[in-house]
Amino acid sequence: MSKQKQVTIALDLEGTLISNAVSQFPRPGLFTFLEYCYQNFDRSVIFTAVNEVRFRAIARTLAEAGDVPDWFVDLEYINWSGTYKDLSFIPQAIINRTILIDDRIEYIHPDQKDRWLGISSYEYPYPNDDRELDATIERLRQRTDS
Ligand SMILES: [Mg+2]
Repeated sequence: MSKQKQVTIALDLEGTLISNAVSQFPRPGLFTFLEYCYQNFDRSVIFTAVNEVRFRAIARTLAEAGDVPDWFVDLEYINWSGTYKDLSFIPQAIINRTILIDDRIEYIHPDQKDRWLGISSYEYPYPNDDRELDATIERLRQRTDS
């Protein structure tokens, strides 16, 4: 399967991939989901309110536990500020070829709602039968951005 040309996938961390930066529970299906992104999109980035040092530490812990692929530790980190996760913070990104996966609509720039793929928050009690990441793979497959 060929990669979607020039499509960037921007991933939120807390509530999307893991519980939160404190408990750091990986969401069920995380490894498979990340590998799907890596194999099917030209570029994957992490777009989170957690600072970079903290993100790297969390990623290392997850990698050591085998919950994420090793490349996740070195994933491109997006520096940003302000109210919204404005996709123009992603260097060289083409906004209409970028997809942001995030559990919180509050972070989505009002002009970029069509670039947002929402996912329900992974929250207490952090169910083991959560299948949202699997469902998100299906939604990505059905998008025709490429
Ligand atoms: Mg979140």
